[in-house]
Amino acid sequence: VGSGDATILHADLDAFYASVEQRDDPRLRGRPVIVGGGVVLACSYPAKARGVRTAMGGRQARQLCPEAIVVPPRMEAYTAASRAVFEVFRQTTPLVEGLSIDEAFLEVGGLWRIRGSPERIADKLRRDVLDQVGLPITVGVARTKFLAKVASGVSKPDGLRVVPPDRELEFLHPLPVGRLWGVGRVTEARLAELRITTVGQVAELGEAALVSILGLANGRHLHALAHNRDPRPVKNTPRRHSMGAQHALGGRRWAALSTAARTPGAGGVEPVAAVWAGELDAVLAGLVERVARRLRKAGRSGRTVTLRLRFGDFSRATRSRTLPHATARTQTLLDAARGLLAAALPTATKRGLTLVGVAVDNLSDAPEQLELPFDPFRDAQLDAALDAVREKYGTTALSRATLLGRDTGLVMPMLPD
Ligand SMILES: [Mg+2]
Repeated sequence: VGSGDATILHADLDAFYASVEQRDDPRLRGRPVIVGGGVVLACSYPAKARGVRTAMGGRQARQLCPEAIVVPPRMEAYTAASRAVFEVFRQTTPLVEGLSIDEAFLEVGGLWRIRGSPERIADKLRRDVLDQVGLPITVGVARTKFLAKVASGVSKPDGLRVVPPDRELEFLHPLPVGRLWGVGRVTEARLAELRITTVGQVAELGEAALVSILGLANGRHLHALAHNRDPRPVKNTPRRHSMGAQHALGGRRWAALSTAARTPGAGGVEPVAAVWAGELDAVLAGLVERVARRLRKAGRSGRTVTLRLRFGDFSRATRSRTLPHATARTQTLLDAARGLLAAALPTATKRGLTLVGVAVDNLSDAPEQLELPFDPFRDAQLDAALDAVREKYGTTALSRATLLGRDTGLVMPMLPD
């Protein structure tokens, strides 16, 4: 693999959920389509042209584009489409690194003799995805991952863009700063205050100046990107067998709460224990949400929920429950985790608790099976809505409870910007 050549493809499906809806219902083709009523999960390009954006509140979206057709999300259909597209990726090259349910990096450097130039491979990939899965996809081709992603971003929809190695900065520097991977609204606004709007202007600044404006990590990152320095190779996405998250219950407050919960005193043991259990439950819910979201993003589901606890005396306990069907739904996984925590609560109360961990394993690639009883529309839409908002605004943007409305199923809270 010649690292001096443009051999990295970034392949990204266009308006993914909306395109699947248009593929499956011809009446939606060529029209403004919004997926998700409470929160916009995806929208077709005619809707985007009217200012509709992912993670926007449904009411605002309908004001911007009253003639839009709003359809409920069908997560199972999207997961199946994603698998089919990744199948095409793997037919194209053995080196595929998935970034999310609808985008991946592909290294095609070793394939020149059998498949031709990267441009030709990219062109065939686009035709294969359209023929075999029925979806439009945009591909960027460059020497670095970062630049390949920028190239696909500026070529959407249904585009192909190759950035030759000797034209990289010429391509990159006129672009707005927001095109750089990892530059969020905050950074963009901070730079705009200083009248820095293009990548070229960022490149001229120098690392020291950028670090003083944006802090060490952000400043260095941006400096490297503005000079197209990104040494990361394409790596095969490991097929994980388990996904987990944990949270240390450190600090004086937790220690005091935990001690008070097991010490009968003037106020009695019950109220404090209830407060403690309530806070633990919030921690647990946060962990399950994180793990479930990662599962959904990877288009996977799991059957076994494991709770890991470390007690105040450093002893540990692990408890697991296997569900009848694999799932990636937050509520189903949380119910199982809650059951496990409730069973461990007497021990935790006695010994104190210093760490809680949640893992989901027994992971499967198969589409999620039906679970009963559940409300598929509400559960899937709520999960998807939260994922979309967090993807855009960060994990702390809102909590599950704030999204639950009365009759519409979903309401949109105030979001930054
Ligand atoms: Mg996409």
